[in-house]
Formats: sequence, C-alpha cells, structure tokens
Amino acid sequence: MSSIETTNLLGMSPQQLTELVAQWGGKPFRARQLQRWMHQRCTDQFDLMTDLARDFREQLTAHCEVRAPSMSHEHISADGTRKWLFDVGQSNAVEAVFIPEDDRGTLCISSQAGCTVACPFCSTGYQGFNRNLTTAEIIGQLWFAKRALLQAPEAARIGEGQTENQRVISNVVMMGMGEPLLNYDQVLGALLLMLDDHAYGLSRRRVTVSTSGVVPMMDRLAQDCPVALAVSLHAPNDALRDRLVPLNKKYPLVELLAACNRYLQRAPRDFITFEYIMLDGINDADQHAYELLEIAKQVRCKFNLIPFNPFPQSGLKRSSANRVRQFAQLLSDGGVVTTVRKTRGDDIAAACGQLAGDIRDRTRIQERMPARATILLKQEPA
Ligand code: SAH
Ligand code: SF4
Repeated sequence: MSSIETTNLLGMSPQQLTELVAQWGGKPFRARQLQRWMHQRCTDQFDLMTDLARDFREQLTAHCEVRAPSMSHEHISADGTRKWLFDVGQSNAVEAVFIPEDDRGTLCISSQAGCTVACPFCSTGYQGFNRNLTTAEIIGQLWFAKRALLQAPEAARIGEGQTENQRVISNVVMMGMGEPLLNYDQVLGALLLMLDDHAYGLSRRRVTVSTSGVVPMMDRLAQDCPVALAVSLHAPNDALRDRLVPLNKKYPLVELLAACNRYLQRAPRDFITFEYIMLDGINDADQHAYELLEIAKQVRCKFNLIPFNPFPQSGLKRSSANRVRQFAQLLSDGGVVTTVRKTRGDDIAAACGQLAGDIRDRTRIQERMPARATILLKQEPA
C-alpha cells in the first residue's frame, strides 16, 4: 500500500534512516537493525521485525513502506538464468537478470529506463531515453531478486562457501539497461547500499559498474565509491568508436584512456575490463586487434569479447565463432588476458543488449531513425 505521505525506506542511506528514526526518539542502532531486516532478510513487513519495539513498529507501519518496483514478468531459462521485468510506471519497464554459476551468483541490474547514448547495437539504445531510476528502484531489483532466490528451491546450491548474506547473489554488475554514470547520484546511493555491511555487504571487487565512458563521472566514482570498472570500448579508434558508441564524440579515446588510468589509482582491481562487442565485418578484423594491443600498452586492462546478440532492428551480425576465437588469440598472443563472454539465457532474451525486448520502442525512435545500422555499415571504410 502506498500513499503520498508514505515514505519508502528501501533506497534510504544509513544516514537518512538514522535521521528518520531519530524523529521518533530512536537511537542510531535502530536504523541499523531496520537496514538488516530490509536488506539482509528482505522483509517488507514491519510487524515481522520482532526485535524492534512495538510502538516503533507501529510508527513505521503508519508512515513508511519497503517498496521495490513491481515485477510484471519472470522468465526462467533452461540454464538456470532468471530474468525479471519490472514495471516502473507510465509504461516504462526495466529488467534484471540473475546468472548462477558454480562458485557465484551474478545479478545484472538496470540504472535507467532507456538510454540516451543510443549505441546502434543495443536494444536499450533503440528505445530512446525514458527516465532515470531512483535509488529505491535500482536497489529494489537486488532486493527483489535476493528475496526470490532465497525462496527458490535451487538457492541452497548457489554460491556455496559464501557468507550467508552474500550466498545467493555474490556479485552485482550494472550492465542492464541504461548508462549508470549518467544517473550518477541515484546509482551511487544504490552502490553504497550494496557495499554496506548492514545491507548487502558485498566487496568492492564484486560490484562492477559498466560505462560507455562518461569521463567526468568516472573521476567522481573513483572518489566516492571505487568499485570494479568495466568500460565498453567496442572500437580501437575514434573514427569507428564515434559510430559505435556515440558518446565518444564528447569523450574521445585519449580522454577515456586517461580517465581509466586515473581510476586505476583507486580501483579495487589493478586492471580495467574493456568490453568489446564482436560485430561481423565492423570491428572484428585483425587490424582492429592490433590497434587494441596498442591501447593495452597505455592502460592495464583485460579484454572481454562479447559476441553480439542480434535483435531484429539492428541490421548487424554477430562475428562467427571462429572469428571471435582468432581475434581472442591475437589479443592473448599480444600478451593481454582476453576472455570471451558466454552467452547465457538467450532462450529468454536475457543476454546482453536484449533486455526489455517486449516493451521496446515506445518512443518510436525506430520510426525517427530507421536506418541507423545502415548508416553505420555504409560509413565503414573499405
Ligand atoms: N551503458 C553501459 C551499461 C549497460 S550495457 C555500457 O554501455 O557499458 C552493458 C553491456 O552490454 C555493454 O558492454 C554493452 O555494450 C553490451 N551490449 C549492448 N547491446 C548488446 C548486444 N546487442 N549484444 C551484446 N552485448 C551488448
Ligand atoms: Fe546505453 Fe550501454 Fe546500450 Fe550504449 S550499450 S545504448 S550506453 S545501455
């Protein structure tokens, strides 16, 4: 139940909760208890928070709520991948994807409904931009997924060896819909809760922000909350990157690489992960690999090659498995650790770049820009 006066506690920082509790004469440790009930036990009912005083619980019930975005669809893939579609109002929807592996469980979450960056290989980019998510909506995806997984029969097997609080979801990646660093303040609030020992208690190494390269915000993140960083490189030179990641026109490679080096001074890992989508005939020639190796001389990095996940409107093709293997080999032979991302959950359209397929294009961007991929292909130098 929500009303205009009801305060949603889910996205509140420890300080905001402490202040709220103080209004009712509560000590700071009450705020921490409340945090643990919400984020560790995933409780949204105040009357179940049995170690809180009865009159405090009554105040909370009268004025507050714990509200994640409402889930409208759940898909479970044959490989155990789960995808949830969340309704965030005004016919906006975002998605979160859970990927179980033997030694870890990774949740991929969204930061915006749509995205302004408009990369031509990304279905989120095709939607145009709808709005930024709030901290409650971002952390709410983690809250919801954790609660669902704690109740799932296979949950006991996932992430054995992790502490109880991190057992089911041991890693979070901000690689869903949207550009996290263009929704900085709300994303920061969510990241701080992910790391908070009274909330999700994840280490900075196990939380990854993926960015298309918003240089000034990379610097701020390094100061405010230096989690692991993945940078969507996708092209080894400005001419091609301007087309594949249009934000490159604002923050070209020389600035992006310098920002990566500044970030590394504070990062929890001693390398940046460069994501590189493999697009047939666009960015997958040997020459591109050699250019990437030049970049690797400037920044300590690893490459993560992502086979392109096609969607109908893109007009683009995935590089062949053979080409991906050869490209990876060139990079490895050049001395840079290179991995190829396994495609998971593609039977439920939960793979990278396929999110929110059902509600795509409400802003009719395809009608306004029908030939984006065609333009891209035509501009490719011979
Ligand atoms: N906006 C951020 C984070 C979300 S996108 C960013 O761009 O980094 C997360 C990753 O999915 C990025 O590396 C992005 O390039 C990749 N991606 C987008 N569309 C894809 C597609 N169709 N196939 C494979 N990967 C895709
Ligand atoms: Fe936005 Fe990332 Fe998709 Fe590019 S790849 S349009 S930055 S979500």
